[in-house]
Amino acid sequence: MQTLVADHPLVAHKLTALRDVNTETPTFRRLADELVTLLAYEATRYIKVEPVSVTTPVAKATGVRLSRPAPLVVPVLRAGIGMLDGMIRLLPSAEVGFVGLARDEQTLVASTYAARLPADLTGRDAFVLDPMLATGGTLETVVSMLASRGAAAVTAVCLLAAPEGVDRLARAFPSDDPVPVRVVTAGLDERLNERGYIVPGLGDAGDRLFGAI
Ligand code: URA
Repeated sequence: MQTLVADHPLVAHKLTALRDVNTETPTFRRLADELVTLLAYEATRYIKVEPVSVTTPVAKATGVRLSRPAPLVVPVLRAGIGMLDGMIRLLPSAEVGFVGLARDEQTLVASTYAARLPADLTGRDAFVLDPMLATGGTLETVVSMLASRGAAAVTAVCLLAAPEGVDRLARAFPSDDPVPVRVVTAGLDERLNERGYIVPGLGDAGDRLFGAI
């Protein structure tokens, strides 16, 4: 597995505002959306393209277009929904699948309650949207689902990551794995606390995006 921490002043600026406990939901949503679009630029760096030629008003030109089949974007319910618009803004031809996982707050183990994914992902690039890479349990489950359906490569886009989660994914998906796995994040924080929250983090991403329910 490869990890990329986006190193850009705009990313750092928006992430800092997201962390701020005084940032209210409407601003939090907008910042998350903008941040994901910046991360999407990095997350799609290795997306598959094919050569194509076009005619400009002046002459013929060669270029590329995204390969088919279309990439698949998978927000992890519920907080990943807050990242969907920001991602498909750069990838409007992508199809969208959904996976729902709920974390038991005592054991911190996530269990799957919904999965709406194509049965066959052969040759397709897949992008998983999950704001917080904390223990890594959720992403390990979702990446495995996509790899077992034949995805060509899986890239997780996360607003923040904890070292514990990155290490777990690196063990689950070693770099010689047949399916390349990447994590693109705006920040790699210090650690998890005893409740499984990222420190310093930004709190509960789902609550901050959608309210505490
Ligand atoms: N999920 C969150 O929303 N926040 C954390 O800090 C960890 C997991």
